[in-house]
Amino acid sequence: MGAGPAGSTTAFYLAQAGLDVLVLEKSRFPREKVCGDGLTPRAVKALVGMGINVSEQDGWVRNKGLRVIGAGKRLELPWPELASYPGYGLVRTRRDLDETLARRAQQAGAKLVEGVTVTGPVIDDRTGRITGVIAGGGEGQESSSRVYTSRVVVAADGNSSRLSVAMGLRKRDDRPLGVAVRTYYRTPRHDDDYLESWLDLWDGDRLLPGYGWIFGMGDGTANVGLGLLNTSAAFGHTDYHALLRRWLKSMPAEWGYTEENRTQPIRGAALPMGFNRTPHYHRGLLLAGDAGGMVNPFNGEGIAYAMESGEILARTVAQALARSRRAETEQVLGDYPRALSQAYGGYYTLGRVFVKAIGRPHLMHFATKHGMSRPALMRFAIKLLANLTDPRGDAADRLVNGLSKLAPNPE
Ligand SMILES: Cc1cc2nc3c(=O)[nH]c(=O)nc-3n(C[C@H](O)[C@H](O)[C@H](O)COP(=O)(O)OP(=O)(O)OC[C@H]3O[C@@H](n4cnc5c(N)ncnc54)[C@H](O)[C@@H]3O)c2cc1C
Repeated sequence: MGAGPAGSTTAFYLAQAGLDVLVLEKSRFPREKVCGDGLTPRAVKALVGMGINVSEQDGWVRNKGLRVIGAGKRLELPWPELASYPGYGLVRTRRDLDETLARRAQQAGAKLVEGVTVTGPVIDDRTGRITGVIAGGGEGQESSSRVYTSRVVVAADGNSSRLSVAMGLRKRDDRPLGVAVRTYYRTPRHDDDYLESWLDLWDGDRLLPGYGWIFGMGDGTANVGLGLLNTSAAFGHTDYHALLRRWLKSMPAEWGYTEENRTQPIRGAALPMGFNRTPHYHRGLLLAGDAGGMVNPFNGEGIAYAMESGEILARTVAQALARSRRAETEQVLGDYPRALSQAYGGYYTLGRVFVKAIGRPHLMHFATKHGMSRPALMRFAIKLLANLTDPRGDAADRLVNGLSKLAPNPE
């Protein structure tokens, strides 16, 4: 359930494997989703893997890398040249991206029902397993509920994941969580070929908490936003809208980040990071994307991980349902958390250490100041922060891979 990047990718790969797939989505496409709209080469790879045409003629805006601004310096760091990932990223509104993915799943054979909200699980009294969901009319609509049954149920319903909560899976307090807000401004800087990331935010000579981004949308506007992590002292008692305005006040007037040029409301949402809801398989329910807290703690990127986890999930389910005995099916489904852990476990453990460290402003300030004056170090940092390496790449790749392998690999 849920036709965001996680749900649509899961549905696409399940349908490709020849299974009957039903996706229940509470909204109707096209629809907004609060996001930065930035796609790294990891996400590009996932899109290309689904056969999506990501050419500029099709409305995708390409970028060459990340411009990092901090400690009074700015560095342009091109995406690394790798065999495993393309050398460019993209920008696309979620209005377009999510509909593209959902339609792709439909083309592959998945059935999508829009405007239907899942309200709870159907549980087998005898086994305690989920055997379906109860769902009714979409957001704000009154209509009678009905039951949908299925051999396997996937929660791809995003950060709040009501279905996971109803199955007893709450967010973990010991894992990172971010909160971010974003809006759009008409600006001459809409046509930027770098994603821009601000490591420190200033209001005059006052250092503000959090990190910011400015992603040119190529349509006369830029997506501008900022976020805070739960390891920061300011988390939980910050007025994010005021913070955004204070930060933007210090920008050059000609960039146009003013109230008159704001084209959308300022809206925010949470970013669940580093596996902050587990286990990812529980009594017949599998979790993908934000429902399973899969946002990368290093950089707040969630779309690629939603799509990748959807693919891993679908491949597991296809194998599980091909087994003839129920116990075998269960054994294969039970392997999904291990497969996720193998893909991201060690890296996310490093990410949790990183998030703790940068929650301390002095440490972050020190790292920014020293890192920004060492471009070679920043080139390594981009590989680490964006999780972009080749298995047998250069020394930086081997260091990132080695650290991820050495770090504990919890599910
Ligand atoms: C401010 C902000 C900026 C961000 N910027 C970026 C960025 O630039 N790049 C990036 O990669 N990531 C970014 N992220 C993270 C990214 O948005 C998420 O990680 C990503 O959307 C996760 O995809 P998902 O499919 O798991 O969940 P979602 O995209 O949340 O999709 C969940 C779907 O489930 C549906 N749904 C929910 N409940 C129900 C229900 N009860 N019944 C039926 N349907 C339901 C929803 O309508 C939705 O369509 C950002 C997040 C925030 C908050």
